[in-house]
Amino acid sequence: MNKRRVIYEGKAKILYEGPEPGTLIQYFKDDTTAFDATKKAVLDGKGVLNNRISEFVMTHLTSVGVPNHFIRRLNMREQLVRKVDIIPLEVVVRNIAAGSLSKRLGIPEGQSLPRPLVEFYFKNDALHDPMVSEEHIAAFGWATAQEYDDIIAMALRVNDFMSGLFAGAGIRLVDFKIEFGRWFENDHDMPRILLADEISPDSCRLWDAKTGEKMDKDRFRRDMGGVTEAYAEVARRLGIIRESGEETDNVIHFTGGSK
Ligand code: ADP
Ligand code: UDP
Repeated sequence: MNKRRVIYEGKAKILYEGPEPGTLIQYFKDDTTAFDATKKAVLDGKGVLNNRISEFVMTHLTSVGVPNHFIRRLNMREQLVRKVDIIPLEVVVRNIAAGSLSKRLGIPEGQSLPRPLVEFYFKNDALHDPMVSEEHIAAFGWATAQEYDDIIAMALRVNDFMSGLFAGAGIRLVDFKIEFGRWFENDHDMPRILLADEISPDSCRLWDAKTGEKMDKDRFRRDMGGVTEAYAEVARRLGIIRESGEETDNVIHFTGGSK
């Protein structure tokens, strides 16, 4: 196992070659970065929590028919996923104004949006992930018109489902970033679009429904402290870990199969 080939090492995760063709092992590091990696820290236990939280969300999304890369969790820090060709877009869905939206348009942080907004950013660190429109996506061939429609529909379904999931845990889903990829099932010609990467407090804004307290990566970005503790509280409220911090064994409760 130690001789596994590293396919890619990013800021928060390492991708290893998986045990079967078409699979990868996604390893969650404790490394945390913000502001184009100009701010860095190692947060003890963060990777373990994000592995569990992402497993939980992806498995539930599978159960409601949102196709995604997750196959199974392997251990505390690793999960087996389907290898996809990542579409070079960061897809952001927003329910409440915050972060770059507030900064760019002067909309006060915390103001509810009249409807969910879907935004696209070109995934390119050197260019600082610039915002792009449907026109850019079509002109530069990052996604076909059909893929673009699928991505928007899936992003909104993910938003609806996750908003309910977190609301049930007393948490407001303010916004989040997701990524998609093309999956060539059995080498068929037509790829399917799968949700990939991770869904965790690193990639979502999560506010306590009663107090408005931040339970996500903004605690790191804004030097608020208590980052891992907040992530653990998210995991506790979702029923992934117990009060004591120990893991629960039953991550999901659904009757459908897990394709
Ligand atoms: P970054 O690349 O921004 O530093 P990470 O450290 O999270 O981010 O690296 C994980 C990388 O793996 C991301 O670039 C993401 O696009 C990519 N990725 C996520 N899921 C898959 C997958 N199923 N197949 C191939 N690549 C993936
Ligand atoms: N986000 C992310 N990775 C990025 C940029 C944003 O996961 O590289 C998430 C971020 O955590 C937030 C949402 O996307 O939940 C919207 O982020 P925003 O555009 O407000 O940018 P930020 O304030 O993070 O710069």
